[in-house]
Amino acid sequence: MFDFSVPSDTQLLVDTVRRFVTQEVQPLENETEALGDVPPEALKRVRGKAQELGLFAMNMPEDCGGGGLDNITMCLVEEEFGKTSDALIRRVFGQVYPMLLPCNAAQREKYLLPTVRGDKICAMAITEPGAGSDAASISTTARLEGDRWVLNGGKHFISDGDIADYVIVMALTDKEKRARGGITLFLVDKGTPGFTVNRVQPMMGHRGYGHAELSFDECSIPFDSVLGEVGGGFKLIMNSVAGIRLAHIGARAVGMASRVLEMMRTYASERKQFGQPIGDFQMVQQMIADSATEIFATRMMVLNTAWELDQGREPRDKVSMVKLYASEMIGRVADRGIQVFGGMGFCKDLPLERIYRDSRVTRLYDGTSEIHRMLIAKAVIKNGLVL
Ligand SMILES: Cc1cc2nc3c(=O)[nH]c(=O)nc-3n(C[C@H](O)[C@H](O)[C@H](O)COP(=O)(O)OP(=O)(O)OC[C@H]3O[C@@H](n4cnc5c(N)ncnc54)[C@H](O)[C@@H]3O)c2cc1C
Repeated sequence: MFDFSVPSDTQLLVDTVRRFVTQEVQPLENETEALGDVPPEALKRVRGKAQELGLFAMNMPEDCGGGGLDNITMCLVEEEFGKTSDALIRRVFGQVYPMLLPCNAAQREKYLLPTVRGDKICAMAITEPGAGSDAASISTTARLEGDRWVLNGGKHFISDGDIADYVIVMALTDKEKRARGGITLFLVDKGTPGFTVNRVQPMMGHRGYGHAELSFDECSIPFDSVLGEVGGGFKLIMNSVAGIRLAHIGARAVGMASRVLEMMRTYASERKQFGQPIGDFQMVQQMIADSATEIFATRMMVLNTAWELDQGREPRDKVSMVKLYASEMIGRVADRGIQVFGGMGFCKDLPLERIYRDSRVTRLYDGTSEIHRMLIAKAVIKNGLVL
């Protein structure tokens, strides 16, 4: 018999994360938005609190100090993280990429373990001005000179690139092979000669969180800076993105949209026009009903796909469907939220306009909507709809 109930220990964890988000993180939203930075003292305090509660790197295996959560539990936790600004969550926890798992023994000590503890910040540099959706068309190169690799090229839009202690850099090691064995990942430390953070690129949203332009100019790094295998970089990225897309885009979109819906619900009962609550008007009801239905649908998609991942399957097409639907769902819900609030929705006194701006990027990164539509269509045309 199917059992969709949440186990009590999972619920306890979700409740702890919910309290952490509402009591510790949400109160920093306005100041972060106004400053364009997380107030440093508050960030230190909140990071300390998160470490105390054991909320760091919950996605990573226990043997490297992580929380060892399965994908379903991780998605339930990420829903709660979605109820505050992505900028704050990213600044508090950093980004603990599962691509780090193939670290060798020395890399494990230097990069993986400190990142899992929250002592080092990591960034992932794939995208270049000339290579976005077509990541295999990168032009950053790595050539072997004696016992060192020499990197040349440029990356942009790199999240946390401004503050990262080290960057995972995707570079070409064989121009002919490219995605088929010619792309390698390298671990590059901040401060390495030839590695420059050129500038933080101003964005529509994500205030308080930097996306940077990086350059590598005859940047010489040790031979053992390779993450995984030489030529194995593209495959490593592709094999690691499913959990990230589900948790960071899918589950967070559910959390974000649930917060907007809750605001719509309260306002629709309290705000009166023409002598009655606006929630009595059918056109307002429609916005609430459509939002609730789409949030429910997204949540089911996220959890079902997370369950498949936990069974050791590779539900790539479903991950694409979740990423596509969740990112477009939050856009619609955020837009309706503003509509239900009228002028107040446009006003910076409320988080709605920030959510509207911040959520827009989810249709762009981790594969644009068009790329995921293309992948879904190809899979369906080839295999039919596999549910
Ligand atoms: C805020 C932010 C943070 C980011 N963080 C990171 C990061 O940390 N690390 C990193 O490496 N990258 C990062 N990125 C980059 C992100 O992954 C890319 O922006 C994304 O892959 C799209 O690439 P592009 O911007 O070059 O757009 P393009 O690939 O140039 O696409 C432009 C348009 O063409 C469409 N298009 C392209 N190819 C096709 C096709 N085959 N069929 C149909 N339509 C197509 C796209 O869907 C889009 O509408 C970030 C981007 C942003 C905005």
